[in-house]
Amino acid sequence: MSSCIFCKIIKGEIPSMKLFESEKTLAFLDIMPLSKGHSLIIPKHHGGRLTDIPDDQLVEILSVVKRIATASGAENYNILQNNGRLAHQVVDHVHFHMIPKPNETEGLGIGWPTS
Ligand code: IMP
Repeated sequence: MSSCIFCKIIKGEIPSMKLFESEKTLAFLDIMPLSKGHSLIIPKHHGGRLTDIPDDQLVEILSVVKRIATASGAENYNILQNNGRLAHQVVDHVHFHMIPKPNETEGLGIGWPTS
C-alpha cells in the first residue's frame, strides 16, 4: 500500500534498523522504543488487522521473535500486537512488538541478527 509507512520501510523508501528479513517477514527497531531493543516484527503482506493477514504470512513471526530474543540475550520481554484504535493501534499495518524488560544484569543490544 503506497501510503503505508511500514510498506515504505519494507521497500527501503524509509530507513530502518533492520534485524531480520526474509521473503515474508521483516523485523526492525522501533523508532520510539519503550525499552532498549524494542523491536517490531511485521509480515510483508499489507493488512491493517490480524484477520487481514493470510496464515502463511504469520507462521514465521514467532520464530523471528525467538531469534531476536536469543540473539539479544533478552530473558524478560513482552510480545504485543494491537488491533484497532481502541486497542491503541496507530500504524495500520499488522505488527508485533517485542519489548524487552531489561534489568541491570542483562546485556541487551549485542549480537542482533541481520539475516
Ligand atoms: P502501534 O501503537 O501498535 O500501532 O505501534 C506502532 C509503533 O510503530 C510505535 O511503537 C511506533 O514508535 C512505531 N513506528 C512508527 N513509525 C516508525 C518508523 O518509521 N520506524 C520504526 N518504528 C516506527
